[in-house]
Amino acid sequence: MNSIDGPTFAVSRRSVLAAGALTAAAVVHQSVRAPAASAAAKPAIFYSPHQDDDAIGLAGSILEHRAAGRPVYLVLVSDGRNPDLARLMNTDPCPLTTWADPHPCAAGGSHRLSWPTDGTNKIVAARTAEFMASAKALGVDKVINFKIADDGFSGTAAYDRLVDRIATKVEALAERYPGASHKFSAGWLEHTETHKACSDVAYRLMNDGTISDVRFHHVYAYARPRARRADGAAYVLNIPGSHMKTKRNAMYAYNTWDPGRNLYALGYHSVPELLEAAHDDPREFVHTLPSDYRPGKGN
Ligand SMILES: [Zn+2]
Repeated sequence: MNSIDGPTFAVSRRSVLAAGALTAAAVVHQSVRAPAASAAAKPAIFYSPHQDDDAIGLAGSILEHRAAGRPVYLVLVSDGRNPDLARLMNTDPCPLTTWADPHPCAAGGSHRLSWPTDGTNKIVAARTAEFMASAKALGVDKVINFKIADDGFSGTAAYDRLVDRIATKVEALAERYPGASHKFSAGWLEHTETHKACSDVAYRLMNDGTISDVRFHHVYAYARPRARRADGAAYVLNIPGSHMKTKRNAMYAYNTWDPGRNLYALGYHSVPELLEAAHDDPREFVHTLPSDYRPGKGN
């Protein structure tokens, strides 16, 4: 474990995550204007479907809005319960492959854990501890935890209830912060029901006029080959070097092994490839809602 970047948290900086020298950023014309300082009083509200989506796909935009003088509120939408992740963490030696030397696991390849595998106790608290460390690194003005059970995958009825529960809470924020901009994930392009549910909420609330200034971040863009990540994006954010440094510090919160602070590198064990790719790519990908958008679980 190496300690970097001050006393905020002890960070394990694995060689792979540290390897991302800035490369020449792809130039894509900006078709959505950057946030204007004149909107200073109105917050920008970013919705992270799970712990780790914030650092992977929202952080650069969060820092851009902060630099423009906007208050930034970061919402954790779901509680991130995940029995599979609990089972993975109970496995020794660490199942993360040894494609990197040293072993990419921040624990060095051995966890020595025996967590309950209902996934709701240790996992939720520990993932949220990582989220709070990431939010602190990003310097957001407010963290809002919806604490919504992440259970939309079991069927259509469960999915629809998940959408309803998220919508109720987003509606309350829209009422409390009139004129706020709302940044969701581009769930129609992504891999989980929870991400899709968030964009379904946006679709519903845009249609009934509850929210109007809305953008969508493609968090899973980094799962694509580099040259395809910007496909369909309305705006590619080229993250300045100083912001990229901060974004990487947020990502390290998800690869820190510090049990005394409830940090177990869960984000890294959950989505190592996404974190590696995002660490190495100083861009974020912002979409608008497609005209042929189809709400619902099946897409
Ligand atoms: Zn591990």
